[in-house]
Amino acid sequence: MTKVVAITGASSGIGEAAARRLGADGHRLLLGARRTDRLEALSKEINEAGGTAEFRRLDVTDADDVRTFVAAAAERYGRLDVLVNNAGVMPLSPLAALELAEWDRMIDVNVRGVLHGIAAGLPVMRAQGGGHFVNIASVGAYEVSPTAAVYCATKFAVRAISEGLRQESDGRVRVTLVSPGVTESELADGIADPAAREAMRAYRAVALPASAIADAIAYAVSQPPEVDVNEIVVRPVASAQ
Ligand code: NDP
Repeated sequence: MTKVVAITGASSGIGEAAARRLGADGHRLLLGARRTDRLEALSKEINEAGGTAEFRRLDVTDADDVRTFVAAAAERYGRLDVLVNNAGVMPLSPLAALELAEWDRMIDVNVRGVLHGIAAGLPVMRAQGGGHFVNIASVGAYEVSPTAAVYCATKFAVRAISEGLRQESDGRVRVTLVSPGVTESELADGIADPAAREAMRAYRAVALPASAIADAIAYAVSQPPEVDVNEIVVRPVASAQ
């Protein structure tokens, strides 16, 4: 069954790969992020391959913007079956570096962004009798490592929020938490701290292609309506963390 799927953070990495995979599976897509040139090129590619994709500029830190984004999906396609809350940032540094602005940015994008998605999507899904949130967390939602305290805290929060949402869904809304291990994307480009950047370089040597995470998302989306895949953790075989 083809669905209407909105994806936040679709301009690179996992969101972009998810758009390609779900577009190829025949789902109708609305893609959001701030870099609209990337979204435009990706939508064009999906449409030319026979899929259906539109895009819209989106900043997930702005609740009104996320509401407008979700409303645009419902207006364009008549409903919203799946919201993939994928947008995220990871400017790692030790706590002692006191990078308060980076802490705020991670909380704003990774936690508030997901909450804004829920606030926008839940009323639409409840009104139409069902829907599906796919929230992208991380292996950092299960364990903490040096330089990643705040990032992991945001991902622990996404995991807690997702579980709470699932428990409160009254059997109508599906909730899937997808937690990637190290994956090829632009995520580490945002690390300014030199030591954290260097450590990440070695860690990322075994990174999975983003398509591996897109496949996990597609698996959860493709399940029959009575099946809710709650959590998927995907790591490279060669990765201990
Ligand atoms: P990328 O940096 O490649 O993609 C991040 C996406 O988030 C981009 O499309 C970016 O778009 C978007 N984004 C960032 N800030 C905002 C914002 N304020 N509003 C809207 N969109 C925003 O990294 P990944 O693909 O790796 O990241 C996707 C998710 O996967 C994140 O939640 C990340 O934490 C998670 N993850 C990734 C792992 C990895 O190893 N790659 C491992 C574990 C989890 P734009 O800048 O155009 O707005």
